[in-house]
Amino acid sequence: MSTNPSSALVADATPTPLKDARAQLAEAVKILGYDDGMCDMLATPRREVTVSVPLRRDDGSVELLVGHRVQHNMSRGPSKGGLRYSPTVDLDEVRALAMWMTWKCALVDIPYGGAKGGIAFDPRQYSRAEIQRVTRRYTSELMPILGPTTDIPAPDIGTDSQVMAWMMDTYSVNKGFTIPGVVTGKPTQLGGSLGRASATSRGVVLVALAALRHRGLELERTTAAVQGFGKVGRDAALFLWRAGVKVAAISDQYGSIQNSFGIDVPALERHVDESGSVVGFSGADDLPHRDDLLVADVDLLVPAAVEGVIHAGNAESVRASIVVEGANGPTTPEADRILEDAGCLVVPDILANAGGVIVSYFEWVQANQAYWWSELDVEARLKERMDHAWERVLSTAKSRDVSLRQAATVLAIETVATAHLARGLYP
Ligand code: NAD
Repeated sequence: MSTNPSSALVADATPTPLKDARAQLAEAVKILGYDDGMCDMLATPRREVTVSVPLRRDDGSVELLVGHRVQHNMSRGPSKGGLRYSPTVDLDEVRALAMWMTWKCALVDIPYGGAKGGIAFDPRQYSRAEIQRVTRRYTSELMPILGPTTDIPAPDIGTDSQVMAWMMDTYSVNKGFTIPGVVTGKPTQLGGSLGRASATSRGVVLVALAALRHRGLELERTTAAVQGFGKVGRDAALFLWRAGVKVAAISDQYGSIQNSFGIDVPALERHVDESGSVVGFSGADDLPHRDDLLVADVDLLVPAAVEGVIHAGNAESVRASIVVEGANGPTTPEADRILEDAGCLVVPDILANAGGVIVSYFEWVQANQAYWWSELDVEARLKERMDHAWERVLSTAKSRDVSLRQAATVLAIETVATAHLARGLYP
């Protein structure tokens, strides 16, 4: 089977996250002038493990779930990446997400390669006790490849700090002593970092504000739409609201709401805590269709939910002049070209949502040293890294005359390839 990203694209035109990731890689490799051998090496995961996760349900029946862990690249250090619980999880999606993690870690210069994990099930249909059993069994199946110096999971869609606590406990009990550095995004009582829970959203908003300044838009006159109201979208909406941006539309998987005068985000948070969804909030109108949010008349669009939501079929209707990717892979390559031709500035995921893995790295450093930083310290160090990455990507985009995504991907891939070449090929 060919692993060549460009031939994989030609074979079948249906977009998938893996094809999108490979197309982005192929484009960057072309700009860098690397040969096929290097391209195949960068396109292919170093290790993939699929495990059965038998679950005893609360009613006594047994259900067999399937989980994956993909370690894409370890040239620069242990692999690092989230764990996703969602019915859409499959091996190709995990491969794509693992590849994006490699580029993200390289772009913001943290000493990790990329990984990702997932179990194909909908956690909302299971009790907390069942989710705990799923998590512990999955962790124990993956014991041989996880570890603070080998592969370090973190929360992603459908998982949270409690899931990380169960992973850390299962791993530690099996090793015979407490190993907080095996996961990040833990509760602070177990060695989680202050500022980790909001770090991805904080980073998204830092680059969103930088992009607004770059485009000469004034905060008080700016309107925004945020897709997704989970770990990333919720705080992104809140931080934009606090910065003075009018957040005019917000969605979750159940629907979209809009208020052209601006949504009171803290009031919406209370509504969501009580009802479980943004839908039906008294301070806004429900939009007829959930995806109407993507084409709302706003300046800034922050997709912070799932992959592939801005595609060839709707990109022409996007009215925002800036898209800041809170989610991984929300824009397909075809949509990217359409948005670029329309003059829309797309701040790519590997830059925009890197705040989470940056503070995960801080958490790992703190856990390994058993020395904890203040929240102010974490936030200042996060800001320094995000600002630096934004400036670097912007100046590379200018000097190479390429998009921000191409600039970010080229910078990241160059960093990984340089490390790979310096280490040399074993044997
Ligand atoms: P989450 O499970 O906490 O929240 C997901 C949100 O998206 C929920 O509000 C859900 O209702 C909503 N949603 C799902 N499908 C939707 C749809 N089609 N339209 C509108 N809303 C929809 O997940 P999260 O951790 O916030 O992750 C969101 C995205 O951000 C993912 O792509 C993830 O990989 C990425 N990301 C997360 C982190 C992190 O630290 N959690 C870091 C970097 C990137």
